[in-house]
Amino acid sequence: MNIADALRWARVALSAGESPQADAEVLLTWVLGRNRAYLRAFDDLQLSDTQWLQYQTAVERRQCGEPVAYIMGVREFWSLPLRVEPSTLIPRPDTETLVEVALLQLSATQARVLDLGTGTGAIALALASERPGWQVTGVDRLPEAVALARKNAMSLQLNVAFLLSHWYAQVTGAFDLIVSNPPYIDSNDPHLLQGDVRFEPHSALVAADQGLADITCIVDHAPGYLTDGGWILLEHGWQQAESVQLLLRQKGFSSVQSWQDLGGNDRVTGGRWCGEQSVVAGAGSS
Ligand code: GLN
Repeated sequence: MNIADALRWARVALSAGESPQADAEVLLTWVLGRNRAYLRAFDDLQLSDTQWLQYQTAVERRQCGEPVAYIMGVREFWSLPLRVEPSTLIPRPDTETLVEVALLQLSATQARVLDLGTGTGAIALALASERPGWQVTGVDRLPEAVALARKNAMSLQLNVAFLLSHWYAQVTGAFDLIVSNPPYIDSNDPHLLQGDVRFEPHSALVAADQGLADITCIVDHAPGYLTDGGWILLEHGWQQAESVQLLLRQKGFSSVQSWQDLGGNDRVTGGRWCGEQSVVAGAGSS
């Protein structure tokens, strides 16, 4: 069985899926520890029995719908290779928008940053990789996620503190920036029955109140954990920008605005906490 034969077999096996060619190739690059260019250049190279067996197992898992990221156990985010496990969400390109906005809104070289519901640690690690002077803390309510995020920090040699905490429960102190990609999908969303999300933890995806329950909780308690002038930036569903803006305004945040992802959908909404005075001012100016 050479590379060309293996790829041909896999393309047929995966033909009912979304991306047979790309999946066949990426899984083989993973088994062989080589890039796509290598597959093309050496397509008559023989696979060892172990490699062929490993490839068959991977392709069969993919045939059953399992996400490529869980099969390989790794996904790149912000150019950082992150380990992923089924206990956490697979980092998505959409979430890179949140990282971009955070870097844009907070120009300070020294800052305290909190990432709520960190999962693999993706957002916290991306921010730490860009701003070595920031003191970044990531929290998650699942011990498996905290352990995974710590492993990622260690292998990337990034200095981020990861704690076990359900939202703010174990958090102390004040932050210049709070970021989060919380669960925000409504439980009746048909999107939950398609593709990779079927294999991802429901607790990381689904929230009550049309997907707004966790976002509401995060916004409600944020003022107690923000410095004066501190920012909160939240990822949300493409139809939720208006609701999240309203939540932030009602709470007394200023400079409330939304940013779009690469697909042109409103994906991140945030605001600035300028202390209790803004609540009073906001309440008077309806
Ligand atoms: N954006 C993801 C999706 O639609 C969901 C991520 C989340 O709920 N935080 O698949």
